[in-house]
Amino acid sequence: MLLTRVLLLAVSISPVWAGPWATLCAGKSYNEIRTCDSFGCGHYSAKRTHRLHRGVDVVCSDGTTVYAPFTGKIVRQAKPYRKENAINNGVQISGQDFCVKMFYIKPIKYKGTISKGERLGTLLPMQTVYPGIQSHVHVENCDGSDPTGNL
Ligand SMILES: [Zn+2]
Repeated sequence: MLLTRVLLLAVSISPVWAGPWATLCAGKSYNEIRTCDSFGCGHYSAKRTHRLHRGVDVVCSDGTTVYAPFTGKIVRQAKPYRKENAINNGVQISGQDFCVKMFYIKPIKYKGTISKGERLGTLLPMQTVYPGIQSHVHVENCDGSDPTGNL
């Protein structure tokens, strides 16, 4: 019994426990969720100034290649902010089972098919807008539900 509990614990804290989506950030072996920094925390429904965080932040360095999480279509450009800044860009991707918005990337295109794990774009210079933040890709489900289990 004890051994079973130890094994379950090991599985639950291991990054090998991964969902159906591809690893989003080049050079990483799993989708690492941003912890907390001076700008906030990266998990789903973390507190923001006037709302809750609608997505999950996956750690990735500025300028790094970002991959598509699943096979589908890029349907449109999707931006996180109304006011322009250096990281205000992204896309919405729709597939058979999933629909997401991904922010803070310069995508290779704004329309058309894309395959799971294919190069989607490059992480924009987040450090120039939020110095000291854990740079990340923001991923949110189109319906606002929690995407963590898919990572
Ligand atoms: Zn976010």
